Amino acid sequence: MHRRSVLLNPGPVTLSERVRSALTRGDWCHREAEFATLTREINQRLARVYPQMAEGFEAVTITGSGSAAVEGMLHAFAPVDGATLVVSNGVYGERMVAMLAAQGKAHWTTQGDWLSSIDIRQVEALLTAHPQITHVATVQHETTTGRLNDLDTLGRLCKTRGLSLLVDAVSSFGAENIEPEAWNLAALASTANKCLHGVPGLSFVLARASCWSADSPATSVYLDLHRYHRAQHGDGFSPFTQAVQVAFALSEALAELEDEGGWRERQRSYSRRAEVFADTLHTAGVEPLLPSGTCSAVLRAWKLPSHLGYEQLHDRLKSQGIVIYAGQGNLQEQVFRIAHMGDIDGELDHVKRVLSECLRAP
Ligand SMILES: *Cc1c(COP(=O)(O)O)cnc(C)c1O
Repeated sequence: MHRRSVLLNPGPVTLSERVRSALTRGDWCHREAEFATLTREINQRLARVYPQMAEGFEAVTITGSGSAAVEGMLHAFAPVDGATLVVSNGVYGERMVAMLAAQGKAHWTTQGDWLSSIDIRQVEALLTAHPQITHVATVQHETTTGRLNDLDTLGRLCKTRGLSLLVDAVSSFGAENIEPEAWNLAALASTANKCLHGVPGLSFVLARASCWSADSPATSVYLDLHRYHRAQHGDGFSPFTQAVQVAFALSEALAELEDEGGWRERQRSYSRRAEVFADTLHTAGVEPLLPSGTCSAVLRAWKLPSHLGYEQLHDRLKSQGIVIYAGQGNLQEQVFRIAHMGDIDGELDHVKRVLSECLRAP
């Protein structure tokens, strides 16, 4: 039997049969009533993934990868008259800085070392030095290192100081906790193809109803999310052609998430897998980049053993149908990453065996 590939990269994920078969539901026009109904249903399901967001938050879906949603969120909600502080400790925090720079919006950033947690004293000092800062932007799960940033502490600070929090939750939405009130959350961005187990092509922003109703001077045509919001929460249509089949899969993936017990159950299943991988890797003498208490349930970075380069490890695993992920930037030569997402429970024994074999010292 042909073994399907096991994706241990941080999205796209190994699909369940249920989600894969949704892709062939039919040939639909995105300007017909049934697609408007599907769009509304997806937006409602997205707002319900976290019951605590179901009341105050409204979703908008756009065709594009996770970065499109993050850029759209910053475009819609990072202020033109105030300033944004980006709290960054990885590639995705730095990408938000680049987006704000491209949008010509005032911003500051913390000098975040990739291997360090958020330095809340530094954040406080920057906020005090620059009273024009009205918004804080950060990444919940920094996929660069696997760190789950402490948004309880950062969010409390935002709440106390009356600052709006904008979160890149691309690799955490659906599997890590979100506390919109305690964090003073204004909006978050995420995607179909990570913890939600859909296919790539659609991403989304969930924002407070009051944020959507605010005026925003648009400097982008395609990424003007206020325009999407007016359309999708009006007649249900979108300004531009949406990825119809990707929407079929997302809707099915959201139904599957609900049937499986919601985000908490997904977090539990990721944590169980994380332990399986950790056992196998520890036994093979591989060390984690970060201590386990600081990591997300979604992904961990592991130090490459001295006898094995990334390419070699990757190719050995790939020949057995298993895909891992390289490190980024300075970590490229030092680590490999393993994500715990997707429909992989049936393949775990195979993965454990092959990983142990491939990591064995010569
Ligand atoms: C995957 C990811 C993104 C978006 O990447 P795309 O390639 O645009 O999907 C953004 N932020 C984080 C934290 C991510 O893990």
